[in-house]
Amino acid sequence: MDLLRSVTYEPAPVTGGYTDRVLLVDLSNYEIEPRELPPGFKEKYVGGRGYALKMIWDETTARTTYESPENLIVMASGPLCGDVRFPGTGKFIVGTISPLTNTFIDSNVGGHFAPVLKQCGFDALVLSGISRQEVVLVADRDKGTIEIRKAPQFGEEIDRGALSYGEKLLMSYNGGKLDDNVAAVTTGIGAKNTRFGIINSLFYDKRRGRLRSKQAGRGGTGTVMSHKGVRAVIVHADAPRVKANNPVNEKGVREAGAALKRVLGEMDPRQLRLSSWGTPVLLEYMNKFHLLPVKNFQQGTHPDAERVFAEVFLDRYFSKEYPDGCYYGCNLACAKGAEEVTLTRGPQKDQRVGVDGPEYETAAATTSMGVFDPQFIMEYNWYCDHYGIDTISMGVTASFLMECVQRGFLTREDIGYDLSWGDVEAIDRLLHETALGKGFGRVCGQGVLRAKTWVAEKAAAKRGMAKEEVLRELDKFAMEVKGLEFSMYRTQESLAQQGGYGFALKGPQHDEAWLIFIDQVHNEIPTFEMKAKALKWFPLVRTWFNAVGLCKLPWIDVRHPDAAKTDNPAQNRPTLHYYAQYLNATTGSNKTIEDILNDSERLQLLQKLINLRQGKGERKDDRIPLRAMAPVYRDEYHGRGVYYGEWLEEQVRDGDVPGDDGERHEMLLELRQKAYQRLCDEVYREKGYDREGVPLAETLEKFGLLDEQARTLLRERSG
Ligand code: SF4
Repeated sequence: MDLLRSVTYEPAPVTGGYTDRVLLVDLSNYEIEPRELPPGFKEKYVGGRGYALKMIWDETTARTTYESPENLIVMASGPLCGDVRFPGTGKFIVGTISPLTNTFIDSNVGGHFAPVLKQCGFDALVLSGISRQEVVLVADRDKGTIEIRKAPQFGEEIDRGALSYGEKLLMSYNGGKLDDNVAAVTTGIGAKNTRFGIINSLFYDKRRGRLRSKQAGRGGTGTVMSHKGVRAVIVHADAPRVKANNPVNEKGVREAGAALKRVLGEMDPRQLRLSSWGTPVLLEYMNKFHLLPVKNFQQGTHPDAERVFAEVFLDRYFSKEYPDGCYYGCNLACAKGAEEVTLTRGPQKDQRVGVDGPEYETAAATTSMGVFDPQFIMEYNWYCDHYGIDTISMGVTASFLMECVQRGFLTREDIGYDLSWGDVEAIDRLLHETALGKGFGRVCGQGVLRAKTWVAEKAAAKRGMAKEEVLRELDKFAMEVKGLEFSMYRTQESLAQQGGYGFALKGPQHDEAWLIFIDQVHNEIPTFEMKAKALKWFPLVRTWFNAVGLCKLPWIDVRHPDAAKTDNPAQNRPTLHYYAQYLNATTGSNKTIEDILNDSERLQLLQKLINLRQGKGERKDDRIPLRAMAPVYRDEYHGRGVYYGEWLEEQVRDGDVPGDDGERHEMLLELRQKAYQRLCDEVYREKGYDREGVPLAETLEKFGLLDEQARTLLRERSG
């Protein structure tokens, strides 16, 4: 690899979870700067998402787009990332201005990259500028060097794959072998050709003897990295991981970690069984409770869904002999994978590959396209990772386009071939075209928001209608908010999750508010007031996990045996106490859960400010499509007629439900939309916003966020 720039440095030690240093790389001029963080920075912005938010707030403007040189990609861990004695500590955040939403996106991802980056002496890597040529960045603790190198080429076939390229690159850097002292993030050709490119986090799995990958999947982080000309970042550090965070209180860390591991070991086998089944276990629940997206969220259940339940993957694909943590020390170990899957389609047909997944989301992305084929799911999973595109945005955009065909807005002539529900060959073709930037795939690769406009223009011209008129119809079933495609939960029957998606600052991604299980499956927040309060509380906790560098699943997916004795079992506070203990033992703080929530609220408000600045922060931007609230068309309504009938009877207590079917449907649509607007009012009030969803000045002041930029924003709004 040709060397373009190299600096030597002294790795900063980790103390109490932090190195207090970030690595800045300006790709326009290849400047490399290890920089100390100012005093007070970590106390206010915590780490992870908080660091990314603050840097993007300071360094970008309302005019910044994902392509702007000043746009940053921040890859930040947090103080709790990297200690193998506590479960779920391999997570980091990738934050940037998104090609899909044009505002802040963060995507959390596991693997070894962030723990090794921290051992290299950095809490975060910050990329700015745009390189004139494709480069690879290398941080090597053992050599004490940071380098920018010309990205090597290994041949077209290898170069276009995020996985194949990463493997070759790591081998060539690491003396022809792979080991767990080295990790990387990479992009593939799909990141170049779409707005929903991902960043693959590659790490070596000693037991499987191969590279595995996890993905920063949402919002086009890989597209930005690719646009900056960064093909990969390698981190290398040969250092022990056990006491990696150099905590203030070793015993406290050990005890908190052991307590949580005990709960996971005892309770997970009696509850979701994630450690055996992985997240595909959710398919059965979602199907049973009408939450599984089928045919672009038109239906929530399907008789063929059992063909893709978790046991099918367990029997046919998953390797049972390996524990599957995405980082050392996680005994929930949900990161399932398969060895030696033979591809039956696409450019790599007949190749035998290792597949990391599928996660629930990936499998449900295919049911949304009307496919219930486990082999296709494995291949879809692999190809999306290989190309470097988001399985969710790909699936939801394709589903939207398929519904456009179903409803006559798109024709064979527009696409070049038939594209109908469950047509695996056509879907496979669309996947490859999208990733490779060919044919109709160029439309799909723009995501739902932009594909919607393209379809509206075509359909309006053909029908002699105004484009706006067509758009109004498409808006009803275009499953995006703020420009981001819905993740894979159907919300029609869960008001709480409608809010969870509508108010999510990055757009409808469940990691900001996953209330569907406690609302719809467990019925633990039955009243309107409980839902509204949950929509403040749960996103705060989730934000904290994204700031400190932890996985949320050990908290939210395994209920502590003592949770049932608390006022609000769904909050799982007994487990949260282990997290507070782990935090305090690591950093030397003395925080309560309430302190943690306050830290999170500051970060959420900062994200809200960025949204406001980028034009995505008001009530109108929390709009959700009609399909997310109610059945748009009569056949959807009939398909779930009994449930909707009962719901109407409950709402209209004096028995004034019309007898006419059409009128009942209309009434349902009206009441559902009103309920969502009422929820907006209540949640904004809970959060200290005004009626338009904008934080009040006193709310910002309370969290020390009323800086000059924030004052100007508020002034502009009121003026
Ligand atoms: S629970 Fe799953 S995703 Fe979370 S850290 Fe463990 S293996 Fe990774």
